[in-house]
Amino acid sequence: MPTGYNFKMLVPIHEEMTREALAPHFSARALEIIIAANRKQDSLRNQIGHDEIHFDNNAIEKGHRYINEQRGHVLATLMTSGVLSAWIAFGRLLHTAQDFYSHTNYISMWLSQHEGTPPPPLEIDPVQKDILRSPGLHSGKIYLPMDALYFVPFLREFSLKLLPNNSHGKMNLDSPQQGPNFAYARAAAVKRTQHEFGILQKLLTPDMLVRFVDK
Ligand SMILES: [Zn+2]
Repeated sequence: MPTGYNFKMLVPIHEEMTREALAPHFSARALEIIIAANRKQDSLRNQIGHDEIHFDNNAIEKGHRYINEQRGHVLATLMTSGVLSAWIAFGRLLHTAQDFYSHTNYISMWLSQHEGTPPPPLEIDPVQKDILRSPGLHSGKIYLPMDALYFVPFLREFSLKLLPNNSHGKMNLDSPQQGPNFAYARAAAVKRTQHEFGILQKLLTPDMLVRFVDK
């Protein structure tokens, strides 16, 4: 498989965003395990037939359900004396939550509410309810083989000419090369990561929270 052939948000960006959002809250060892579990979601095994992990192919409902399931694993693990599986489940959850902004049209829907000059990326609300529930929310469809060619740098332009507008290649916001919307996708993903930690802060008992953050 040639390098750069990857349907998903670039791994360093997932890592960078997770660190930015969580480093103040978790011990170094917990953070490394969370990041490793996040990265593992883009392994080939977790790409094929797992649209829910990456919000691909319009798997919006399945993606939300996957996030809820992983949150359930975090809680279930911390109800026992364990903690490792809680970190792993949280890393998995974060990957999917972060992919939401690079693989769906959430960013363009949020921006379309603002006429004229758009607000700066840091003002984005990552969980605006009416957008999350909108029937207009959709994600990129993977069209093979053209969506695979997109990831070969010198074939990118050629594949983009042939890919439809609802394709993963046309829609994805995985890297700064995707234009100005990338900054919004990144800001939203960092905020969502903090938001997901906030949900757990509320759900966990003080004792469970202490073990989870490992500080
Ligand atoms: Zn992914």
